[in-house]
Amino acid sequence: MMEAIKIGLEIHVAIPTKTKLFCSCNAYNEQEPNMSVCPICMGFPGSKPMLNAKALEIAKSVANALHSDIAKTISFERKVYFYPDLPKSFQITQLSNPISQGGFIELQSSKKIRIRRIQIEEDPAKILHEEDYSLIDFNRSGRPLLEIVTEPDIFNIDELKEFMNELKSILYYLGIDINTELKADVNVSNQGERVEVKNITGLKDMINAALFEIKRQEAARASGAIINKETRSYDGANMITVSMREKESDEEYGIIYEPDLGEYSIKNLPIIEPTYTNKIAKELAEKYSASEKLIIEQIMFDKNALQLINKFAGTYKINIVISAIEVLKRYNKTLDDEKFEALLIAISKNVLINSETINDIEQGKTIETSSEIDESLIDSAINSMLLENKQLLKDYVNNPKVFNFIIGQIAKKYNASPKYISTRLNILLPKFVAGK
Ligand SMILES: [Zn+2]
Repeated sequence: MMEAIKIGLEIHVAIPTKTKLFCSCNAYNEQEPNMSVCPICMGFPGSKPMLNAKALEIAKSVANALHSDIAKTISFERKVYFYPDLPKSFQITQLSNPISQGGFIELQSSKKIRIRRIQIEEDPAKILHEEDYSLIDFNRSGRPLLEIVTEPDIFNIDELKEFMNELKSILYYLGIDINTELKADVNVSNQGERVEVKNITGLKDMINAALFEIKRQEAARASGAIINKETRSYDGANMITVSMREKESDEEYGIIYEPDLGEYSIKNLPIIEPTYTNKIAKELAEKYSASEKLIIEQIMFDKNALQLINKFAGTYKINIVISAIEVLKRYNKTLDDEKFEALLIAISKNVLINSETINDIEQGKTIETSSEIDESLIDSAINSMLLENKQLLKDYVNNPKVFNFIIGQIAKKYNASPKYISTRLNILLPKFVAGK
């Protein structure tokens, strides 16, 4: 069966190097505009680019993690067009001989979203549009970018979310900051021509843009209109896409070989080994009979959580280890192994965990333990109370005193210690508030 909706992505990720892609200017140290610049990244006549090997190393590691076929030698092209953010009138990018081709990310359903290619290119300068003039900041000019292009294998929003989260997790574990600068072009076709939505920042807007396009194209088709191949932009404030132009092709740019860089062998560059959250979560879930989803949630963007699970889940119950990790996140703390173990023991013994207990643990004090309570009983009482009474959750968001009301209700019903209920509620309530 032909899939109705097809989504393909072009994702731009900033490569975290100290210096820019073709010069030794600081890539990310921005105090003042135009302070991190030189003749190369300002495009002065006669300046020549020098390749940053560290950027290639990181790019190669990403390619490896995405099972992409890495080239032995690479080369670059000049994409020629005139725009004020590009003083040399061309952007150095890769077309015919990119860092890698092919590859995939495997979803939990075992479906593979194929990668088409991965290439390196330079970021242009930043333009700040004011009322009746514009400013250009060249600090960004020449920063290394990685472009990851997928095949149109994503068929719905859930797959889009899962693909992006797994990609972001892989990038995170390779040391790439995924909270800033993750930009994407989202290509959507809903039984028609491909429409490209340019320059979207962040996953939330990618989802909104894709949703809007799916509906827009469906409505257009229903009214008998023909969907043309075109480029649109995303208007985040109104959550809509707006037509920019009929789609241009690479032939409309001047593309020439970049002679100043030539052929560059990347065969001997080292590779950082990848971490696959989905795969690891599956293994851990099987090993400790835990929920795969719960483990993914903990480790996806938290290397420390993965280490703690690996270290302690053999000795302590996995749900105790996960509760302790949640406590660390909630109180924004890190503990050394010895103190983390003290926290595990405290949770195992149903001790009330609040900022006071955490301080005691940090200072190495002995923690008082209370009587044993059936943990699962209290958890399920809290869960069902919050599930059955949605108004309670709404009230809690506006009035934190509701917290004590919930404790009181459960303490009365189960004759349990309010302190213990409060500990569990502290862990469970944020999930409900976050809508999980
Ligand atoms: Zn420079």
